[in-house]
Amino acid sequence: MAIAQDDIERLRETISLVDIVQSYVPLRRVGRNWVGLCPFHAEKTGSFNVREETKRYRCFGCGAAGDVFTFVQDIEHLDFVGAVEQLAGKAGITLTYTSGGQSKDRQHRKQLIEVMAKATEWYHERLLNGPDAKEARDYLRKRGLAGEVARQFKLGWAPDDWDAMSSDIGVKVDLLKEVGLAFINKRGKPQDSFRARILFPIYSDGGDPIAFGGRILPGSKDPAKYKNSPETPIYAKSKTLYGLNWAKGDIVAADEVIVCEGYTDVIGFHRAGIRRAVATCGTALTEEHVRLLKRFANKVVLAFDADAAGQGAAERFYEWENRYKVQVSVAQFPAGRDPGDLASSNPQALVSAVTGAKPFLGFRLQRVLDAGSVATPEDRSRTAQQAMAVINEHPDLNVRKIYAGQVASHVGIPAADLVAIAQRGSRRPSAQIVSTPISAHKDNGEFVAIALMIQLWDQIAPWLVEELFSDDVYRRAFLSLAETKGNLIEALASADPEAREVLERAAVADVEVRPIVEAWNLVAAAVRRELLQRVRISDPEEIRKDRDARVLLEQLEVPTAADAAATQLLEWLVVRAGDHT
Ligand SMILES: [Zn+2]
Repeated sequence: MAIAQDDIERLRETISLVDIVQSYVPLRRVGRNWVGLCPFHAEKTGSFNVREETKRYRCFGCGAAGDVFTFVQDIEHLDFVGAVEQLAGKAGITLTYTSGGQSKDRQHRKQLIEVMAKATEWYHERLLNGPDAKEARDYLRKRGLAGEVARQFKLGWAPDDWDAMSSDIGVKVDLLKEVGLAFINKRGKPQDSFRARILFPIYSDGGDPIAFGGRILPGSKDPAKYKNSPETPIYAKSKTLYGLNWAKGDIVAADEVIVCEGYTDVIGFHRAGIRRAVATCGTALTEEHVRLLKRFANKVVLAFDADAAGQGAAERFYEWENRYKVQVSVAQFPAGRDPGDLASSNPQALVSAVTGAKPFLGFRLQRVLDAGSVATPEDRSRTAQQAMAVINEHPDLNVRKIYAGQVASHVGIPAADLVAIAQRGSRRPSAQIVSTPISAHKDNGEFVAIALMIQLWDQIAPWLVEELFSDDVYRRAFLSLAETKGNLIEALASADPEAREVLERAAVADVEVRPIVEAWNLVAAAVRRELLQRVRISDPEEIRKDRDARVLLEQLEVPTAADAAATQLLEWLVVRAGDHT
């Protein structure tokens, strides 16, 4: 099913892009744009620009750009149809569906998912029944992952063979390549990507199989313990969480999600009766993940060593807490045990680790206090300093003060002294807003002209011709706009990637110039360029015309004569430059 184009255009016209963006991130008016912190990358200064008139947004930090539909698609992880449906719901518009079938994209996606489903079944069947999978079955049984568990999570076995799957599954090798299941080897033959590995199928949150995580058996000589599917048209690591398809309902019911590090941890939680666990797929937790989870729950429990997650992790977590209004806490496990182990040996410990999860700052502080000595006054002072350094990373003054009180009683330093330190907080620069960095283009008249075409078509378009653009990319951007009579949407669709980038930038550019003056400047610049190329002209008639052109250039400076001069110069230019562009 496709949605009628009229409805899509009507939505685009009626919906305020600024309002939609504002419902996710605060924006501030800066010049003609609305500016705020980019929801698609972590930043402290706002480089996300939204322009209501052109209905476009662009981030000068990460390059994210588009219209209201791409915005909703990216922020809500929806496909185009899903985004249109959501926006229509908000705007109270009833959509008309045409029976013209699905878009090409959707059909292709469906096809790739069917390939993944076939492969998942093939590997699963092999694990359950293949004589060569006995060692894998034994290993899984020892870890409590055989039988029902293997069936529930569709675990698979990739045989130790070159092309066992590719040659047997009955799927074109091109499709297998596209989903990362096969490649063409040096001898020109299809070869399976996964070999001698236990496979964990990874599903989208909607329940479609989209990738595999593979791990070797103990004793294997393969140096890569874990191997995952590459990014494919249906699989983006930073937007995927293993187990979300099974956990969704429980996550919503509990308003809490548990984030683990590995597939077996997720399964371990399920075995212990806690079904709201997910895992990242071989990456750290990203902002995209948090945004995705926020759709389901407000509380995030980290079931991994969050302190070891790397420098800057704390800052990121606080920022996400603040931006997405989620509460991040940390579950503490007995040293050296992961959730996967505990599910077998001590499921009760798994349950209490989650129920006893501490707020992220409390968890980190406890670590510092546990490690710090309070034996001597010097030790106490040092421990207090270390603790206050951790506390002061937190953005909320009241939170800092309360924890400072705890530190004071632990080390025996007057509370008032530590609260005074907490009041200073960290010296991190606070979020500030910067305006569109358009200055880089200030002196580029060709870019300004393109921005004006998008924003004030009627006033500048009559003056513009292809020959005015010396920069090849700008010329292509101009042409795509000219061919669509200034229709930005159509121009973006027809432009090549470089020209599209220029159009995206121009759609949010702040240009404070008179269009006609800008047009005349462009004409003058182009005429001068052309004259420079004509120094060797010998035909007396042509030399006379060039001299006239120089006179006209001077008249451009005279207000009463400028209009006529520009018109003649444009004619002069098109006749001559037309020969060689
Ligand atoms: Zn960005």
